[in-house]
Amino acid sequence: MTDNHSRKPKDAETHIGNHKLDPSTMMMGHGYDPALSEGSLKPPIFLTSTFVFERAADGKHFFEGITGKRPGGTDGLVYSRFNNPNQQILEERFKLWEGSEECLTFSSGMTAITTLFLAFVRPGDVIVHSGPLYAATESIIAKILSQFGIKYVDFPAGATREEIDAALATAKTMGRVSLIYLESPANPTNALVDVEAVVAARKAAFANELPPIAIDNTFLGPLWARPQDQGADISVYSLTKYAGGHSDLVAGGLTGSKALLDKVRAIRNTMGGIIDSNTAWMLMRSLETLELRMSRAGENAVKVCEFFKDHPKVETVGYLGFLEAGSRQKDIYDRHCLGAGSTFSLYLKGGEREAFAFLDALKIAKLAVSLGGTETLASAPAAMTHISVPEERRAALGISDNLVRISIGVEKAEDLIADFDHALNAI
Ligand code: PLP
Repeated sequence: MTDNHSRKPKDAETHIGNHKLDPSTMMMGHGYDPALSEGSLKPPIFLTSTFVFERAADGKHFFEGITGKRPGGTDGLVYSRFNNPNQQILEERFKLWEGSEECLTFSSGMTAITTLFLAFVRPGDVIVHSGPLYAATESIIAKILSQFGIKYVDFPAGATREEIDAALATAKTMGRVSLIYLESPANPTNALVDVEAVVAARKAAFANELPPIAIDNTFLGPLWARPQDQGADISVYSLTKYAGGHSDLVAGGLTGSKALLDKVRAIRNTMGGIIDSNTAWMLMRSLETLELRMSRAGENAVKVCEFFKDHPKVETVGYLGFLEAGSRQKDIYDRHCLGAGSTFSLYLKGGEREAFAFLDALKIAKLAVSLGGTETLASAPAAMTHISVPEERRAALGISDNLVRISIGVEKAEDLIADFDHALNAI
């Protein structure tokens, strides 16, 4: 079976005359040819582990591509640990949001991140990363990769160019720096990383072989931030969040150049961890409404944060839309971000008692971790997602007992405000 699903799109598919189509339009049909599936308007779910070759020579040709014997990858469907039409169409579509050359999808965000690390770091190497990172990512680096002799140096997410230079200089004394790994905004501080400064610092620090810059863009991507525009090489996504958008699947993705992602693909082919066809299909459906969902959630967040800002029971709101004019964070925001997102930190007056009273009184917002779903979610990081973080580090990161983390969904903003008003009054 020839791999017609993942052929390079012709101009006629991406343009009307000189008019370039927007990704939001292309989510409906791009990368799928109904003629290959009995005219079915939507792609069927290809529930198969393996694909039939027309001729033995085709099988050989495809395997040469899969194994890298022939450069450029495979042009045929072989086996669902390597490729599957649903996964291929999904990847063709998701990469359009950042205009990336390539996309790879995985069984979870953490599988994407771990496979990325396995592709680029070797024993003795150093990873330079911004901090904090998502807790499981920190664990992979500090607790698992360290067992294989891989070292790391970190700098705070809001670091200046000088601080980034210093981290790179330290790292170079420890071994080969093979990956720069960022997460922006950081969870739950919302601090933004200056990707442009990291790119400049890398250029100054390394003469020849530049370590790739990968960035976890889960919180703002792909609608509100496109870090490859600032010079990052690979964007990392927990597709479980905004891309999936309905809190009903777990998946991960990477976007970037073909040259870099081919290295990751080689590990994925061997190890597994590729997205399954059913989840890929659900994600394709989610992508059709990605812009609608994220736009509505972003508009809701503005209204809800305005409500919280002046409420007497609220100490402060950590929301990217409220960054102080003239501050370094606002400068990064203006250079890097296309929107303030819909996930933010609410600091209530008081401590755990007040935070719990607020959470227990919510009627519409759900008391649950995660983010980026159609429904509004609220949780207490100090008591939940970050409970295993040592107390001093929690304090340094601003993860206090009065912090409530909120991810706004697509409900009616006025209903959410009524819910939050009622919950604040219940404290
Ligand atoms: N990156 C960030 C910023 C996250 O918030 C998460 C999950 O919460 C992950 C990565 C991991 O993704 P997954 O849960 O899909 O493995």
